Amino acid sequence: MKFTSTRNAQLSVSAAQAILQGLSADGGLFVPTEFPKVDVETMCKLDYCALAENIIGSFLTDYDPTFLKEAVGQVYSTAFGDKAGYVQPVNASLSSLELWHGPTCAFKDYALQMMPRLLVQARKMLGSTDTTLILVATSGDTGKAALEGYKNLEGIEMQVFYPTGGTSEIQRLQMATQEGNNVAVYAVKGNFDDAQSGLKKVFADRDIAQQLAQKGVSLSSANSINWGRLVPQIVYYFYAYGQLVKQQRISLGETVDFCVPTGNFGDILAGWYAKQMGLPVNRLICASNKNNVLTEFLRTGTYNANREFFKTTSPSMDILISSNLERLLYHVSGGDSALVVELMQQLAQTGSYTVPEKMLTAIQQDFAADCADDQQAAQEILLRWQQDSYLCDPHTAVAFRAADACSKAKQCVVLSTASPYKFPVAVLAALGKDVPMNDFDALRALSESTGTQPPVQLSSLEHRQERFTKIIERTQIADAALGNIQAE
Ligand SMILES: *Cc1c(COP(=O)(O)O)cnc(C)c1O
Repeated sequence: MKFTSTRNAQLSVSAAQAILQGLSADGGLFVPTEFPKVDVETMCKLDYCALAENIIGSFLTDYDPTFLKEAVGQVYSTAFGDKAGYVQPVNASLSSLELWHGPTCAFKDYALQMMPRLLVQARKMLGSTDTTLILVATSGDTGKAALEGYKNLEGIEMQVFYPTGGTSEIQRLQMATQEGNNVAVYAVKGNFDDAQSGLKKVFADRDIAQQLAQKGVSLSSANSINWGRLVPQIVYYFYAYGQLVKQQRISLGETVDFCVPTGNFGDILAGWYAKQMGLPVNRLICASNKNNVLTEFLRTGTYNANREFFKTTSPSMDILISSNLERLLYHVSGGDSALVVELMQQLAQTGSYTVPEKMLTAIQQDFAADCADDQQAAQEILLRWQQDSYLCDPHTAVAFRAADACSKAKQCVVLSTASPYKFPVAVLAALGKDVPMNDFDALRALSESTGTQPPVQLSSLEHRQERFTKIIERTQIADAALGNIQAE
């Protein structure tokens, strides 16, 4: 299986090259040149590890199958307890694919536990001997999931920068208590944009790159556009489908809808790849919060990022540029990379673009879209709890609401991307309860008022020793990267 670039269809690289490089030199994203077809009936019978080995292996044909089997076993048999791909029926037509039983209680663990192993192996396969220094700016979820995924890996070092005025106390503690001999965490004075822009400067600075190169270090990011982050996400669509068949909610071959809380368009795009591989998917419903640029795009064909940015109770979906959409544009245009280049240039220059009518029609055959603001998401949390005794987080709530509004299939699977206990304050408020000031009091209050249990990964943080306490100015990010400031 070869991969090409969304901005240059002539390019051809192996999976290992695509994963090591991350982004193509022409600025495009790596995409597979074909969609491996699988036998759905056979897939439905496999356990999660065997399924992951099969699906991931069908794209990463240059990787040693023994390596893949081992890596997949290490990740999905232990890191998610016995709940990898767990599907919880919610009511007669809705199910919840709970993707938050991993180490950081958010769905990003599925990719960020696997991707680092794929990267280390790609380095071996391609003879790369540099140390890879991974720098991440995070508003919360990504940083912790990346730290857990990359900790203690050979040849890799990682630094995470989070804003002092941006994360919840639980999110901050998740990072400040991080273990591992190759990781460092810094608080950066300011908000997320301050941390992000400070980091972008470091990436763009040739002088810093040179100083690092002299020490045998090359910079990389753990961003969500790497193919190695996307491919593990295809697996759980197949697994969820198999669970519905087992639960006799559908018969084999019947189509279902999937509804996905969407930010960077990675998770939902994995569902589209599953459909191309033969999974009986009716439509993929793209759920957005008040930052509804994707809702508008999927309904009208115009992507317009020139709009106000809102901070919401579903922060991981607060995004105006959804990078992975570029992959879909490439595929539905029939691999017309010249057109993709043109659209992306328009986006960079004017903040907006419109796709040709034919492309929009093709996109709308596979996708529907809806959005919900914070108040509507809160109402949905309350509704699901009162009607179905099902507790969900604000991201998942946005998707439940879109599923209600858009799903026409007999069964709809909502991808539940975070544990409600990651956002105890917003969830308590939605249930109409008094909200304590402290995150851990909120955790206990949520548990008491619903009779559910918080994940131990979160509740145990209250009494853990903080390891990283350094607060820096954003202008010091470069010094941190160069190893001039100790984090501990
Ligand atoms: C990252 C994230 C999303 C959005 O996923 P994309 O792949 O970026 O669309 C949704 N919910 C949660 C909880 C997340 O962390």
